[in-house]
Amino acid sequence: MSPMVLLLVAAAVLLALPESAAAFPIADSGRARCAILLDEEARPAERRAARELAEHLRQMTGATFSVTTNPGAARNALVVGPCAVARQALGEDTLAALAPEQFLIRTQGRHLFLVGGSPRGTLYAAYHLLDNVLGVRWWTPTYTEVPRKRTLEVRRLNLNVQPTFEYRDPYLATAWHADWAARNRCNGMVGNGGPNGPADEEHGGGFLIYAGGSCHTFDQFVPAALLEQHPTWFSEVEGKRVAGQYEGQLCLSNPEVLEYLIDAVDQTLQKTPGATNVSITQNDNVQYCRCARCAAIDAEEGSPAGAMLRFVNAVAERLEAKYPRVMFDTFAYQYTRKAPRLARPRRNVIVRLCSIECDFGRPLSAATNRAFAEDAKAWAAIAPRLYVWDYITNFTNYFKPHPNLRVLGPNLRFFAEHNVRGVFEQGTEITPTGEFEDLRAWVLSRLLWNPYQDDQKLIAEFCDGCYGPASKPIQAYIKLIHDLQEGSDYYLSCFAQDPAPFLNAEAMARADQLFKQALAAVAGKEPYEAHVRRAYLPVQSQWLTHYEEWAKEVAAKGLPAPDPAPKILREFKQLATALGIRLYTSSKPTTEMIAEWEQRYGAAQ
Ligand SMILES: [Zn+2]
Repeated sequence: MSPMVLLLVAAAVLLALPESAAAFPIADSGRARCAILLDEEARPAERRAARELAEHLRQMTGATFSVTTNPGAARNALVVGPCAVARQALGEDTLAALAPEQFLIRTQGRHLFLVGGSPRGTLYAAYHLLDNVLGVRWWTPTYTEVPRKRTLEVRRLNLNVQPTFEYRDPYLATAWHADWAARNRCNGMVGNGGPNGPADEEHGGGFLIYAGGSCHTFDQFVPAALLEQHPTWFSEVEGKRVAGQYEGQLCLSNPEVLEYLIDAVDQTLQKTPGATNVSITQNDNVQYCRCARCAAIDAEEGSPAGAMLRFVNAVAERLEAKYPRVMFDTFAYQYTRKAPRLARPRRNVIVRLCSIECDFGRPLSAATNRAFAEDAKAWAAIAPRLYVWDYITNFTNYFKPHPNLRVLGPNLRFFAEHNVRGVFEQGTEITPTGEFEDLRAWVLSRLLWNPYQDDQKLIAEFCDGCYGPASKPIQAYIKLIHDLQEGSDYYLSCFAQDPAPFLNAEAMARADQLFKQALAAVAGKEPYEAHVRRAYLPVQSQWLTHYEEWAKEVAAKGLPAPDPAPKILREFKQLATALGIRLYTSSKPTTEMIAEWEQRYGAAQ
């Protein structure tokens, strides 16, 4: 048993002690002391909540827990969902007042009630009990830690919990696993048709279900193929009309464009009956329309967000009566990041503010991020529903050490304090990534639920859980690269070019030594060794990038030598391939990078 598990067990015992007379009994010496009570009409997510409770409590205690719909079947019951027993005990009005993801965990009479404002809320109540109260940790999709205790009670509880952010999306491959996402209460990517498809009802269903694409949709609704026939529908740049995802935008002051797009959006919504959202967002380029009419609007508004927002408002207004439950979202991105002076987002418009230009090595309160922070404040003042599209990786090198772990917590607190209600944390495009992916996903899942937690303590907790005996050297490595970043004036962009000056031979020699210590501490101890080897990939990647130069430098300085390049390359190739990390950069396959290294260092076989 790891020290972490012992600690968790100790915590559970302490929880049970003070009011043991009134505590809720779960198991006694490996025998169940309660049943799990479910409504006959329970929804799939509520049934899943009951199954997850039964299975994890069995792993904790060794006992078998029955799931029943008969209220008379057990003296003590874990009551799951708003069944008749729960409604009677807690009150119809109390339950009706719960927001969809809000939940109550309450000991009352002989029962422990787990009831949410929706089936997903009830599912989250079950996970909160297992995780936050009883110490289960779903660290990664393949590694769960369950404390063992054959006798288990829960102290009296009266919790009323809801998330800070309504939309929580750490966009990393880790979170595409539907089980992991539900257990860690992320409701984004698995819910909006991501790589694994929309979350099924069992996992709580999708929070965001888009009709059509979820971003950069101008080209989808008004395709560039129409340029020849309708040149004035597209953006005028230096006297020329341009169209296409990477080439142009729409002329937003042209009434024909508005009518055409409304019709296209209407048709898309008709094809997606359960849609919650439709995205009306600029193409991924900055060639916005400078025609006289658009330019006049933007001048009046002090920003090209003016023409954009007036246009999106018009779409949202026209389609509101027909689709009263659908939100129309748009971007404040690049040229539209600055809020308009006059236009105001309608009540059925979501503005998604994008932080793509920021310095991710420093918090939003830092001088380097002042312009973004000012824009965020301006949107916070006028947007009824503000989301943020944030960036947590380096798209020009997914393996490069990206020391942004000290800003994740402060930035989420900044967002919470500025009316942001949903956060998409983009960590990849279509592939698992190389740098602390599991750590980022888990820590972000905690902070997106409640950003007012000690983010550095969460990182340490993850290291203890996932790296076990190697936690200390891994934390020393994290400290090393973050101290170096903070001590430099390096602007940590999400398109940071290689090399960062602080990632030099001396620093990476020290990093390499820390990983050697980490590996020695976990040799033969799975899953820790696998986790450490994965965390080592960025350091190995740095060495493979700079080997000839750095090896000479560390030799001259008498620093410990790295492994021979062919050995590093062999290990890197094996693991990156096994993990399916397909992209080295956003446009370069990992296989291509490995082939280049094989040219330099010899085949990795
Ligand atoms: Zn125009």
